[in-house]
Parts: sequence; structure tokens; C-alpha cells
Amino acid sequence: MVKAKVLLEDSVGKKVLLLANEAIARGVLEAGVRLVALYPGTPSSEIGNSLYQMSPHIPNFYFEFSANEKVALEVAGASAISGARSMMVCKGPGLNVAADPLLTLAYVGIRAGLVIVVADDPSMWSSQNENDSRYYALMGNLPLMEPSDPSEAKSMLLVAYDLSEQLELPILFRTTTRVNHSRSGVEYGPIRDRPEYVQFEKDPLRFVPVPSVARKRHPWLLEQMEKARSISESTELNFTIGSGELGIITSGVSYNYVLESLKILGVDAEVFKIGVTNPLPERMICDFLRRHKKTIIVEELEPFLETQIRSFAQHHSIDVEIYGKQQGFFPRVYEYSPRIVTTAISKIIGCNTPINWDDIDERAQSLPDLPPRPPLLCPGCPHRASYYGIRAVTRGKAIYPSDIGCYTLSIAPPLETADILFDMGSSISTACGIARVTNQDVVATIGDSTFFASGLPGLASAVYNQHPIALVILDNRTTAMTGHQPHPGTGITGMQKHVEPLDIEKVCRGLGVEYVKTIDPLDSLTSLVAEVRELVKWVRENKRPGVLISKAPCALLTVAERRRSGITVPPYYVDPDLCTACRRCLDRLACPAMYLDSETGKAVIDETLCTSCGTCVYVCPHKAILQKEE
Ligand code: SF4
Ligand code: SF4
Repeated sequence: MVKAKVLLEDSVGKKVLLLANEAIARGVLEAGVRLVALYPGTPSSEIGNSLYQMSPHIPNFYFEFSANEKVALEVAGASAISGARSMMVCKGPGLNVAADPLLTLAYVGIRAGLVIVVADDPSMWSSQNENDSRYYALMGNLPLMEPSDPSEAKSMLLVAYDLSEQLELPILFRTTTRVNHSRSGVEYGPIRDRPEYVQFEKDPLRFVPVPSVARKRHPWLLEQMEKARSISESTELNFTIGSGELGIITSGVSYNYVLESLKILGVDAEVFKIGVTNPLPERMICDFLRRHKKTIIVEELEPFLETQIRSFAQHHSIDVEIYGKQQGFFPRVYEYSPRIVTTAISKIIGCNTPINWDDIDERAQSLPDLPPRPPLLCPGCPHRASYYGIRAVTRGKAIYPSDIGCYTLSIAPPLETADILFDMGSSISTACGIARVTNQDVVATIGDSTFFASGLPGLASAVYNQHPIALVILDNRTTAMTGHQPHPGTGITGMQKHVEPLDIEKVCRGLGVEYVKTIDPLDSLTSLVAEVRELVKWVRENKRPGVLISKAPCALLTVAERRRSGITVPPYYVDPDLCTACRRCLDRLACPAMYLDSETGKAVIDETLCTSCGTCVYVCPHKAILQKEE
């Protein structure tokens, strides 16, 4: 990641190689954004990480990691209504969490610019579904913009703020993983000042959408969208490039694939790149369709553009052949690539590709495979000990609702403690549903950040409705999976200010949970197993929710902290004379730092990976695992 001081440089015209996420963070400065609120989510994570590094050095700026996306949008929306340029950032599924305020914000509108950056994740590299957030723009009547690369991400962001203020509407700013994580040269513009304070001007007949107010605001919103439509017809963000009989309409990252494919095929085409994808520039699109007998629509995921463009063609009786997903030329799943786009275009126009893909596949197959590396909990991860304990007590017979975070990786053998997962915070509520209709033990797990994000309402409901669930809160003191961002339990804010952390144990007691205990899973596996046993027994006997907080820092934090403090802790090793090659350590714990010696069949610990958590010691029945001397 580029250092904060590079992103903060006040040097107009300087060109810096940036990720699109970093370019968006830089755009925050250049647009004079006063407040940013977000909940971290890959592929948008580097936007928050950059702003976190920058926040104490930006005058009159406020940045926070909110408890969840709904809270973040409510914070940012209220700030924009107060008159300060604001931003909310999330990933695709996070926008679902914020959908409630999102749709109302469109009705009440804003006074200063509000941009909602949503990073979708085609191919689900780090998401539970392929949310196509563009449909929120259609449903909510919100202008939508889609940049194609880092440079455009920054320049389009500046236009988005102007447009937001012109229309008094929030703007959806949608990126996808391949845009977020690509790097290119970005030219710096001037940094805009931010006001220290703005004045909230009351207007309850606009900002309090009781039904009588909301009824008047809906027609207003539709009028604003008509204005947006005429802006979409004239903005330079919607442009054509190239010429030829063939027409191609595209947006976002697909634009890059189209240009590359045309180059590969040596084919001329006029390409219509749409930057404002809601409302679509209907007149421009119709003119484009009339100019081309054959038009191809290239977009990842759902046929968002294609459906609308087909309806324009039908409505205006345009004689054009439209090719896209409907005839099966392009898939509706996963990320596109130059190969997918090139193959589809060549089939549509009936030409051969100069690239022999089969030959490439064959050659790729003949190369030695990379060592398989399934996603695993890290060596020394305290969650591994917790899951070992849960598994040891319940022997796989309980039902294990899981949640969003590193701990979902417990789905893999040998831990196998993830049976059901919907979304953030769902482990508690799904546990309730299962516990009500089965007579099996239910042991749910949730992380600390996720607990604050969306677990609290589920737990309140579980207490009130007396659902017999055992809940283990895996408190590793951070939002680990997205890159160690703070949350309300960590004691540091987005402005890097040290504050009193919220105590999860007190929060649970405050919600009315009668059985709450906190343990350190790395203290002793024996006592951890005993605590899980007691929890499950208490829940079974009392038919109410019980909570065990398994609290130990993420292994990566522990290692980093040791490095910073110059502390060295000797690693563990397997004494080959004591090891009987029983494989229990590997079969039941499977720490990635351990492997079997192919010759002796005995266990070995890779000292370079071992974080000295000591968990494996308790698993070995032959006391063969020992710690090295200082
Ligand atoms: S002590 Fe054992 S369980 Fe912990 S990291 Fe080292 S090998 Fe893995
Ligand atoms: S559990 Fe102990 S004895 Fe068994 S393979 Fe592992 S180190 Fe060797």
C-alpha cells in the first residue's frame, strides 16, 4: 500500500502509481470531503486503510470505522444533510445492510455531496455472493457511476460530488474487485479545503419522511432523476471511442477487456463506454444503436445494461441485432477476462481468434502445479484452539452456525465447525431458528467485529425469546479478515485516538445474558474444553442462551507486537524420539506450521511458521511437542 504521506502530498500535476482504492482515498482530499464512515469489506478495504493512515493529518476531517454499514450510511447521510461533503464505503453485501437508510436518503436528499462507494466482487474472491449492486440504483432511483481504472476512479469521484450537489441526491459509485485492486498512474489535482463546522438547518417537512412528507418527496425524486437523465445525455463520462460497423456498449472494468479484445482480434468497432450507468443516456444509446446493425453489450454479472438497452431498442423500434447474455454469448457468473470477451466477440462476428487458447491450456497443464494452499486459519490462530475445544466437547454432533470472518475457515477438516452461514451476524439468529425446531445442541460462533456489526440484535432477540443456544464469541481484538481495522471493542478510533473499548462481557450482560464467561483459549486447551463443556451443559439445562468469550489477539497481531517490542519467544518442536507418528496433532488440530516427515511419518514443526501459541502441546498424547530453550 502507498504510504499516507504520498497520498497527502499537495503537489498538483504529480503522477503517482496508485490502486483504485488509494486513488479514491486521494479523491476524498481533492473533493474536500469532510466526513467518511465505513465498515471494512474486501475489495474496498484499502480505501479505509488509507484514510485511517491519513486521517490525523487532514485538517477538519473526520473518519470512522462504524459498527456496520447501516450505521456508516446514517452517519454519512446526516453529515451530508448538515451541509458537509461526506462518503460511505462498503462492499456489495454491505450495501444490503445499508439498504434501509439508502432508499430513504434518496427521498429526503442531501445538501452537500454524498457519495456511496460500493465495491462488488464478481467471482466472489472474498464474498458470500456476487451482489450486483447496480440494481439498488434502479430500485432506489439513485444516480450510478462506474469507473474503469484508478485514474478514472479519482476523476469520476470529483464529478460525482458535483453531480450529487447539483441533484441534491446521493450518488452510488460502484467499483469491482479488478478495478479496486488494479494499479495505474493517477495525476494529482488541487486539495480542496474542508469547513471546520457547518450549520444544520432544520427542515422537518423534508428530512422527517412521515408518510405525508414521503408522498411529496417521491415525485420530487422522480423529477431529480429526469434531471439526472439529461445530465447523463451530455456528460463526458459517457463517450464513444473508435469507429466501425460493429458497435459495443460496455461499462466498468469490461471496457478494458473490450479494448484489449479488439486489439487481439484486429477488429474495428465503435465502443460506447458508459460511466453514468443510471439513469442511462437513452437518446445517446438509441443513436448509437441506429448507427450499428450489430451491437454487442459487454458487462459482468447481471444483464443490467442489456435488459434496459433491449427495451430502448424495442420502444424506439430500432432495427438492430443486440448480442449479449440473452443468447448465451456472455456468462452471468464470475469475473470476465480478455479471453472470455475475445472468445464471445469472435463468435458473434464470426472470426477466428489469433490466439490458440487450447494450446495455452495444454501448455499450462504440462506445467507443474503450484502447491495447493487451501484457505486455512493461520498458524497460532486462537480460533483453532477454540474450535478444537468446541469439537472435542460436541464431537461433531452439535450444529455449528458460523458467521462472516476468518473463523468461517473452520468449515475445513479437521475442525468442521461451520454448518450454516447467511450473512454478517446471522450465526446467532440462525442458531435460534435451529435450536427451536431441533433437539440438538447448537453452538454458534461469531467474531468480535461481526458481533458489534450485526450480532447485537440477534443476541437481544435470543435472550428475550429464550432460545437455547451456546454462543462462543471469538474475540481476537480486531477485524482480522479485512486487514486488522479497529472496531468498538479495540480501543482505537478511525482518527487514531485511544478510547475506552466496549467490553463484550458487559455488553452481553447488559443484553440480559445470564451465563457469560471470558477465557483465554491459549491458556490451556484442557481448561478451554472444560469451559465449553460447562457452557453447553448450562444451555441444555437452562434452555436459555449462554455466552463464552474466547479472547486472545489474532496471531498476526501477536507476532507484529513481539517484533515491535523486540521480544523473541522460542518456537515449539517435535521430539522424534517421543513422537509415535500417531498423527493426532495433524488430524485433530492441523496447524499449518506442522507437517509429516514423508520418510519417518512423524510430525515436524516448521519453526519459521510456528508462532509459539502452544496449542499443539495439549493435543499430543505422548508429550512429544516441546518448546525450545531460550
Ligand atoms: S505452537 Fe504448535 S499450534 Fe502453535 S503455531 Fe506452533 S506448531 Fe502451531
Ligand atoms: S500427536 Fe504427538 S506423537 Fe502424534 S504425531 Fe503428533 S507429535 Fe507425534
